[in-house]
Amino acid sequence: MPRFSGKTVIITGSSNGIGRSAALLFAQEGANVTITGRNSDRLEETRQILLKSGVPEKNINSVVADVTTSSGQDQLINTTLAKFSKIDVLINNAGASIPDATGATGIDQGIDIYQKTLQLNLQSVIEMTKKVKPHLIETKGEIVNISSIAGGSHAVSNFISCFHEPNCFQQPDFIYYSCAKSALDQFTRSSAIDLIKYGIRVNSVSPGVVATGFIGAAGLDNEAAKKFYKHMAAHKECIPAGVAGQPEDIATIILFLADRKLSSYIIGQSIVADGGSTLMMAMQFGDAM
Ligand code: NDP
Repeated sequence: MPRFSGKTVIITGSSNGIGRSAALLFAQEGANVTITGRNSDRLEETRQILLKSGVPEKNINSVVADVTTSSGQDQLINTTLAKFSKIDVLINNAGASIPDATGATGIDQGIDIYQKTLQLNLQSVIEMTKKVKPHLIETKGEIVNISSIAGGSHAVSNFISCFHEPNCFQQPDFIYYSCAKSALDQFTRSSAIDLIKYGIRVNSVSPGVVATGFIGAAGLDNEAAKKFYKHMAAHKECIPAGVAGQPEDIATIILFLADRKLSSYIIGQSIVADGGSTLMMAMQFGDAM
């Protein structure tokens, strides 16, 4: 029997990228899935990918919703319960670094950008966790949050200006995004301790550079995004593995953390999957001589 047969999984941010890949893997492994995002065309693409891979229509609940709104969150949960009667797994994956349309960088970015960034990457996770908690208590379920290596102990701002060809790219800035992901890591740890007494496990994945819609959502156009991934893969001081990650590289870890048989003793941890990026020192010796 497929390992997630009979399980119901909500995957936020599954209209694209990592969430889409996770939805496909869960559904192929027998799960009922609630897929969601704001963009109805992209969400329908995800649904079609699942159907074409042989997932039965009855196993998919597709919901266009903004996960930062209370009504959007309720819609996700209520339609899931109406269709599948229970919730076993919550994947808090929706996230983005929201660009400041004025072009401001660093702490010159508006406080409204800070608020929107925190609302999406942190607050919506807290709200979804609170709302799904009673249902996960019933099923002794799992939560997997998608964080980022940007939440680590190093500084993260306009890192694209650190590149060897700084003028090649538009300049997204990750200062508020990295604050949100740091706080999310702390929420993962603390909520894991709070919820394990009910039998609910919470863990997270911290990806490095993964080729998805992320860098476009952060403000780069298609050409610049391609250049970005090419540049990062070509510079082993950025990604020692020499390749940008693919959504499935992260999705397989999400499934591992959602699979109690495989990962039951892991509580409140984050698995870093970044091709080695975080092992590199900021200090590069290339130009020293
Ligand atoms: P994508 O941009 O490809 O996907 C992001 C998903 O989040 C989309 O489905 C998008 O849907 C959804 N989303 C964004 N805002 C909202 C909102 N307000 N309401 C509902 N859904 C929303 O990026 P990734 O797949 O890369 O991102 C997935 C997670 O991985 C994020 O948490 C991101 O921070 C994290 N991550 C990604 C990295 C990377 O290099 N790709 C690196 C580290 C972490 P829609 O637009 O339809 O609303």
